[in-house]
Parts: sequence; C-alpha cells; structure tokens
Amino acid sequence: MARPTAPGTRRATSSPLPALAFLAFGVTAAVFYIAVDTPLVNALAFAVAGIGGTVAVVAGPRWHGAQPRFAWRLLAIACVLFLTGALGRPWAVEQDGWPALAADAATVPGYLFMLLGLAGLLRTRGRLPSHAVIDGLIVFIGAALCSVLLLAVPAGSIADRPALVSALAALYPIFDVILVLVLVSLAFTTAARRPSYLLLVASMGSLLIGDVLYAIIGVSGQLTGSRLLDLPFLLGFLLIGAAALHPSVVELGRAARLPVQAWSWQRLLLIGPALAVPFLLTIFVSGRSMADRVVLGVGGAAMVVLMMLRAVSAVQGYAAAQRRYEHRATHDPLTGLPNRLMLAAEVRRLLTVRPPQPTWIWVFFLDLDGFKLVNDSWGHHAGDQLIAEVAGRLRAALPTAATVARVGGDEFVVVHLGSRSEAIALADQIIDCVNEPLQIRQVEAVITASVGIAGTQLGPLPDGGGPPVTADALLRDADTAMYQAKADGRGRWVMFDASMHERVRERVDIEQALRAALNQDDLRLAYQPIVDLESGSLIGAEALLRWNHPERGAVSPAVFIPIAEDTGLIAPIGRWVLDHSLRQLSQWRADGTVSADFWMSVNVSPRQLRDAGLARALDDALARYDVPAAAVVLEITESVMIDPTSVIGQVLSELRQRGIRIVVDDFGTGFSALGYLRSHPVTGVKVDRAFVAGLGTSAKDEEIVRAVVAMSSALHLTVVAEGVETPLQQGVLAVLGVVFGQGELWGEPVEPAVFVQRWAMGRQVPAESAQVRGGNS
Ligand code: C2E
Ligand code: MG
Ligand code: MG
Repeated sequence: MARPTAPGTRRATSSPLPALAFLAFGVTAAVFYIAVDTPLVNALAFAVAGIGGTVAVVAGPRWHGAQPRFAWRLLAIACVLFLTGALGRPWAVEQDGWPALAADAATVPGYLFMLLGLAGLLRTRGRLPSHAVIDGLIVFIGAALCSVLLLAVPAGSIADRPALVSALAALYPIFDVILVLVLVSLAFTTAARRPSYLLLVASMGSLLIGDVLYAIIGVSGQLTGSRLLDLPFLLGFLLIGAAALHPSVVELGRAARLPVQAWSWQRLLLIGPALAVPFLLTIFVSGRSMADRVVLGVGGAAMVVLMMLRAVSAVQGYAAAQRRYEHRATHDPLTGLPNRLMLAAEVRRLLTVRPPQPTWIWVFFLDLDGFKLVNDSWGHHAGDQLIAEVAGRLRAALPTAATVARVGGDEFVVVHLGSRSEAIALADQIIDCVNEPLQIRQVEAVITASVGIAGTQLGPLPDGGGPPVTADALLRDADTAMYQAKADGRGRWVMFDASMHERVRERVDIEQALRAALNQDDLRLAYQPIVDLESGSLIGAEALLRWNHPERGAVSPAVFIPIAEDTGLIAPIGRWVLDHSLRQLSQWRADGTVSADFWMSVNVSPRQLRDAGLARALDDALARYDVPAAAVVLEITESVMIDPTSVIGQVLSELRQRGIRIVVDDFGTGFSALGYLRSHPVTGVKVDRAFVAGLGTSAKDEEIVRAVVAMSSALHLTVVAEGVETPLQQGVLAVLGVVFGQGELWGEPVEPAVFVQRWAMGRQVPAESAQVRGGNS
C-alpha cells in the first residue's frame, strides 16, 4: 500500500534496497580487485567503486531530500579529490622531487572538504557542549603524538626524497582521527544510531585503517605497498556510498539534540587511552632526540591542562544549571519578574523586619483591564507582547527597592515599604505608567489597570505585638481591593477596607443565585419600545433582562451582567436571551401585535461575539421561529470594535452578511475612536443617555449629539437616542435630526403582556399622552 505523503514534500522511498544493491555491486568490484592481480583490472575495479561511491553521495541525499544539502555537496567533492589522489598515486610516487606530492595535492584538500562536510552535518545540532570539545582535543593530541613521534618523524628522516612527502604520508592518520572525532560528536548528539550513521563511521574507520597501514610502511621508506593496502580505501567509497543511499540519511542532518552526559563511561573509554599515550610513548622516545622529548612533554602538559579545564567547566556547568533551575522555579519566564512563589517569600521576609521607625508594608495587586479581550482579539502572541511591555514599564518606572512580580496571566504585584502617602503616590505612578498608549499590530491601544492596595504596619507596634497579618492575608486583601477597583469602573486604585470582604461574598452569592436562576428558568425579559421620535409610533423594542434574587429582590442588569461576564455565565445567559426574544418577536409578528417592519433589539456582550458559533446559533433561532434576519438588531458595546481583523470582526461580518443589523450601544462612552465605525460592518449607533440627559441644558452635550448625527449620516448609519425622558430632550433631538428614540418619555421596559396592552398595533399612543400615562403610573 502506498504511503500518503504530505503535499509539497519529496517523494522519498523508505526502502533500504538501493543501498543494499549498491553494497552488493561494490563488493563485486572488491572481489575482482582482490582476485584478479593485473594493474588494469585493479585500477578499473577501484575506479568503478570510487565513481560509484561519489555518484551515490551526490544522488542519495538529493533523492531522499536530506539536509543540509551543502554538507553533502562538500562530501561529494571530497570523494572526487580522494579518487583523483588514489588513482594518481602510483604515477606520483615514481616522480622525483615535488611532483611526488601531486597525489597529496588532491588528497589533503579532500580531507579538508570531508571535514567541512561532516561539520556541516554536525552544525544542525547547535553548539557542542564544551566538555565534548575538550574530549575531542584530548583524543586528538593523543593521536597526534602517536602519529608524529612514531610515524612522521621516522619517515621524515628517510633520505633521498623530500621529508614533506614522507612526513605527509605519516600524518594522514591524524586527519582520519579528526574525521572520526567529528563523527563521534555526531554520535553523542544523535538519538538513534541508524544505518546511514553506522555506514559513515565504518567508511571513516576504513580510511583510518588504510592510512595507518600506509603510515606504518612509510616508516621503512615505502610509499606504495601491496594492492591489498588500497582495499580499505575502496571499501571506504563503498560504505560512504551506501550511507548516502540509505533512507536514514535524512536523520544525519536532523537537529535532534541529546542531552549529553559529561562523565559517561563511553567518554572515559575514549579519553582514557588518549591520556595514557604520553606515558606509553616515554618508553619509545627516551633514547631519541631532545626535540622528540620536548614534543612529548608539551603534548602531555596540554592534555593535563585540558583535563583541568574539563573539570572546571563541568563544575561550572553544574553550578550554572543549578542557578538556571532555581531561577526558573522562582521567576516568570515571559517577563523575567519574580513569580508568586518568590513574591510570597519576599512578603513573608518583609513582615519579619523590625525597622527602628514604624513603617508600613504595602502590597499593590494590579490587574489589566480588558486584557482578555486583547488576547482573544489579537491572539496570544499580542497578549504576551502586552504583558512583557507592561512588565518592562513597571520595572523601569518604580523604585528599585520595590518588588515587582507577575503572579498570573495579567496580574502583577508590587511590594513596597513606606508611608501611606508614598503608597498612594506609587499607586498613581503604576496606573499612569500602564496608561501610556502602546502599539499592538499597528494599532495604538490604551490599556488601563485596576489596582488594589493592602498594607500593614511593621516593626514595634504601640502594644508591643508583631504584625497582625500574614503574607497570604495581605495578598488576598489587595486582591479583594483590586476587584473593588474593577467594580468601581476600572483604571483606578482602591485601598482595602474590611467591608470589602462582605462585597466579595455578595458577588459570589449573586453568581451562584444567577446560575440557579438560569437553570430554573427564573430569568425574564422586559421590552422597551423604540419609536419614531416625531410621531411616537412604534418601530421596534429592546429586550432587557430582568432577574429577581430570592432574597435581594430585583437586581439590576448593570450589577449582574458584569458578574455574568466575568464568570463566563454570560454565554448561556446570552443564548437564553436570544432564544426568548426571538420567540417573542415571532409570536408578536404572528398575532399581529407588531407590523412586519418592527425590529427587536437584543444586547450581546463581547464574550458572546468572541464565539465563532454565534452566527450559526442565530441562524438556527431565526429558522426555528421563522423570523427574517432583517427584523433583528444586535446591540454591541464600543469596546469590541478595537480590531477589524479579530475573531469578533469576523463574527460581525458573518452576522451582517445574513442581513442582521448591528448597532453600537451607549455610543460615545467607550474608548474606541470614530474611525472604527468605518472598518466595522455596523449599521447604526445608539447615543448614550448621558448625552441625551443634558440636551436643552448643556451646550456641550448638544454639540456631541450634533457631531454624532453628522458623522452617522455621512456613514449612512441610523441613530437612536436612548434615555429620552422629557419633551424638551425630544424636541432638541428632533431639531438635531435624530429619527428614533427610546426612553421613559414613551415607556419604560415592561413585561410582554403590558407591552401588548400598550403597544399592539392600532393602540399606539403619541408622546404627550405616553408622558401623562408614564407620570401617572
Ligand atoms: P442598555 O442596553 O443601554 O439598556 C438601556 C438601559 O437604559 C436599560 O437599563 C433601561 O431600563 C434604561 N432606560 C430605559 N429608558 C430610560 C430612561 O428614560 N432613563 C434612564 N435613565 N434609563 C432608561 P437596564 O435594563 O437596567 O439595563 C442596563 C444594561 O444592562 C443595559 O444597558 C445593557 O447593557 C445590559 N443588559 C440588559 N439586558 C441585557 C442582556 O440581555 N444581555 C446583555 N449582554 N446585556 C444586557
Ligand atoms: Mg442596549
Ligand atoms: Mg444603552
């Protein structure tokens, strides 16, 4: 069965067959090489294996899509150079003087390319640990001492040819050692020793054996030996070719880093013999020249120094790891600030301080307002960016003596010692520094923070007692005060007082009772008429939630909606409201209470708009109750309109495509600029009642409404004025060009039966009589 491949990836085969076939082909060439002893057949068999290996190194990685490509290109160049050197050597050794170096002129660069190629494979694994590098150097020095003193020096002293030619022959084993070391490093960082890796190691091992054999005969003056001496090189080509053709070649360049142990037994097995070299060599070198002994001495000393460095680096590594670990356990990774754990420890420590003068410890609990909105609208990356920015600002703006910690998603805590007035100044400073505009995704945003403050006196108290509170209690009180700051309108600080505990309990109680009310279907909707401002005739209604708490009685939505939003309860409540209001609309349309162009306004909270399934839920409700989308208006708050590219932007567009109208509620009170109206699919605005209240008495409010009307007509938006209470306001609105109105002048929100009684078609009353009736009731 064919394996599916991801689109766009190379169709690589996972079969090892090509590699096996190549090995079989190479072994045949090797057999010919051994069995038939004529120079021509030998040269042919060698050339066939060499060219085959080189072609495999070019084709295999390309075929399998092995990375990095350049590393394999370098290895292919190395193969070409090796092949040239090997085939040219019989000729070169016949030459006198420098031409004798012709073969080496190809082979030595071959080693360089081989080294660079292997290093290229290694590079994908990132920086090697320093102890691995030191181990490599130790092994290298051991091997170099052996090669130089046992092979190169004796070979170099052979008369009748340039010393370089002989010495080079003896130095090849060092090149191989370097290659093997690079491969061993690869092994230390490779999770599984897959076939390609093993074949590559075997290939380098073959080269090493061949070079050592040559170096040994070189000591007695020979530069070429029996053709069997070349067999390791032939095998080397074979093995590297098979390594390149095997499917596991892709894993050689993969950045799979293994945590390496500094003192594993494999390591000791590698460096142990290398460390023994200087001692063993003293036996051979004792009778030799001064220079030889100096080389040995320097080599041995270098090894000792490296061992010491290794020990020091290992100890330092452990210490650094320990520090990193401790830092991670006590700090927040995103901002680098102390975390909750460290903060609590710091507060506990400060509580035990006994200053000579009475001092206070202050805990500031800070929560960003609307952070969730940023996170949900712009994504977590933007959220992180914002948190990091706020952390940086706090750290830069607050005194160094103050502790700044991040204790939750968008929660920070500042701890400071000082007087009460200093604490208040610091709270102002915190709020100001968060308030500075910041840039998120090309949009300039202003974010605010709510801060709760709790403090206690330190040191010798008048009655001789210690501080009355614990760190936990201080943090909890500051947290409670922060909630109060949010409830009081956000973007401010509040000092804790004991009555707040009561308010927090109240919140929890409301939440629980609200949850129960939803489950027991105890919520109700009231409907407030929206009328044509001039004629007072009914054109729509706004559905407004009503709830009676079992003990507290009627609770205003202004109180329980924010709690529902904070706790997530708004989602099921929102669905309930949509369902019930559309059912009511459907019923009124069916029984003739309202005309066909009557619309139902429903409030939706930001949280509902973040639900990508909202449009579909609305589709279902529209279908279930058989009401046209055009009869539904959703009232949204300004705060959701910060980013047209957000999920909310998308949900709004989907709703708009269905023909549902979208109106911005409480217009003018939020933080969004008018420009946002253009980038969002909004159909109208509802002027906030705060501006309507001042009409006829406040010139400023009049100006604002005039501006809203002008802008709305330019953008073809409808304008509804809410909270209209007096004929004076109605008159000014009419003059300003506002067409629709809502407010107690025409009728307060009422239960459906009363709504029908007052507003069923044919029973509608003009504004004046509504005013009289409103006044009487
Ligand atoms: P809103 O959407 O701006 O609703 C208008 C509010 O003004 C209502 O308050 C209404 O009773 C009040 N109002 C009506 N006429 C007048 C008037 O002439 N003068 C004055 N001063 N006020 C008037 P209510 O019912 O207490 O609702 C408060 C807020 O709670 C609503 O403000 C809305 O934001 C929210 N809300 C109500 N029901 C829902 C709902 O089902 N879902 C959501 N998400 N929010 C809701
Ligand atoms: Mg509303
Ligand atoms: Mg409103």
